[in-house]
Amino acid sequence: MFGRMPRRSSDNTKYYEVLGVSKSASQEELKKAYRKAAIKNHPDKGGDPEKFKELAQAYEVLNDPEKREIYDQYGEDALKEGMGGGGPSHSPFDIFESFFGGGFGGGPSSRGRRKKQGEDVVHTLKVSLEDLYNGTTKKLSLSRNILCPKCKGKGCKSGTAGKCYGCHGTGVKVTSRQIGLGMIQRMQHVCPECAGSGEIISERDRCTQCKGNKVTQEKKVLEVHVEKGMQNNQKIVFEGQADEAPDTITGDIVFILQLKEHPRFKRKYDDLYVEHTLSLTEALCGFQFALNHLDGRQLLIKSNPGEIIKPDQYKAINDEGMPHHQRPFMKGRLYIHFNVVFPDAGVLSPDQCRTLEKILPPRPSKCLTDMEVDDCEETTLHDVNIEEEMRRKQQQQYQEAYDEDDDESSMPRVQCAQQ
Ligand SMILES: [Zn+2]
Ligand SMILES: [Zn+2]
Repeated sequence: MFGRMPRRSSDNTKYYEVLGVSKSASQEELKKAYRKAAIKNHPDKGGDPEKFKELAQAYEVLNDPEKREIYDQYGEDALKEGMGGGGPSHSPFDIFESFFGGGFGGGPSSRGRRKKQGEDVVHTLKVSLEDLYNGTTKKLSLSRNILCPKCKGKGCKSGTAGKCYGCHGTGVKVTSRQIGLGMIQRMQHVCPECAGSGEIISERDRCTQCKGNKVTQEKKVLEVHVEKGMQNNQKIVFEGQADEAPDTITGDIVFILQLKEHPRFKRKYDDLYVEHTLSLTEALCGFQFALNHLDGRQLLIKSNPGEIIKPDQYKAINDEGMPHHQRPFMKGRLYIHFNVVFPDAGVLSPDQCRTLEKILPPRPSKCLTDMEVDDCEETTLHDVNIEEEMRRKQQQQYQEAYDEDDDESSMPRVQCAQQ
C-alpha cells in the first residue's frame, strides 16, 4: 500500500472554534475552556449531547501535543485517517470523567465504584458497490438489553437491594476443607445465592417488569448511514448502543462493511475497473458503446478518430471512479481494460488477404530466400490450450511427487537399485 499524504486543504480551525480559544491557546487555556463548556453542556444537566461530544473530541485532540500538531498541519481528516477511519477514540463521557477525576462533579462518593466497560457488539453489513457509490441507509432491527425502565436497573421496588447473606455482599464464597494432616485447602467460588452480584432481592421487593433481572429486552431499529465512498471493512460505530447492564459503561454497536463482489466493476481505492471486449474491426476502425454506471447513468464511450486499441490496453476516464469518502465531489478514475477478439480461421480468402496486406503495415523487410528455406527443417504447428496443458502438467508433477513419497515409505531401498 502506498501511504497517501493527507492534503493540507482539510479544516484545521474547527476544534479551536468549538472550544472558543485562539489557535495559539496554551494548555492551561484549553483546559479552562473545556472545563467551562463541558459542564455547561453535559447531557445530565440538560445540555446538547452533540455539542458535548464535539467539545470532548476537540479537547481530546488539542490536549495531546502530538495530535494537535497533526491537526494544525493537516486538519481533522488526517487524524481520522490515522485512527483507522473511526471517529474519536474515547467516549465523550470517558474524557469528561478523566478530566474531572470521577463522576459528574467529582465528589468523593462518585469516585467509589468503578464502572466496567461493556462489550462491543460487532455485526457485518453486506453492501453492494452501488451502495458505496451512491450512499444508502440501511434499517436494521436489533434486540438488546436495556436497564429496566421501571426500576432503573435496580431490580427491586424499594430502590436498594439487600446485601446477600450468603456472601456478605462480596459475591464470592470461600470454603475450606481439610485435605490431609494439618493441610487446609481454601476454595473461592461464585456465591450461588446471588450469582455473584452480592445482592439479594426478596420475592416481595422484586421489580415486576424485569423480575429482578435489572435488564429487559428492547427492540430497536438502527439506521445505518452508509456514506458515499466508504471502503470495504470500514466500521460504522454506534457509540454506547450495545447491551446495557448495571454498573457498566455500555459498549458500542459496530458494523463492519463487507463489499459484495460486483459482476462488472472492480474497485481499488477510489478507482473503478471495468472490462470491455472489442472485435478486431472495432479495435482497428473505431468503436462506441454505452456503459451503465453504478448510479444508472449511461456513459458514452468511444474511440478517437483513427485510434487503434491494442489487446490488453487500458484507458481511463477522469472523475468517473468512486467518490472519495467525506469529499464525495472528488472522484477517482474509471479504467477500462480492453480485450480484443480476433476472428477465427477461414474468415479471410486469399484475395482478401492480399487486399489487407496492401492496407496494413508491410511484413518485416528481412525475408527468407529460397536457399535459406531449403536449409531449414520442416515443422508442424499444433493448436494448444496452454492453460489446460499447464494444469495437466502440474497435476502430473504432484502425482509423481506423491508416488515417490509412497515408494520411500513402503518399499525397501533396494528396489531403486533394480531400475
Ligand atoms: Zn451472595
Ligand atoms: Zn425492573
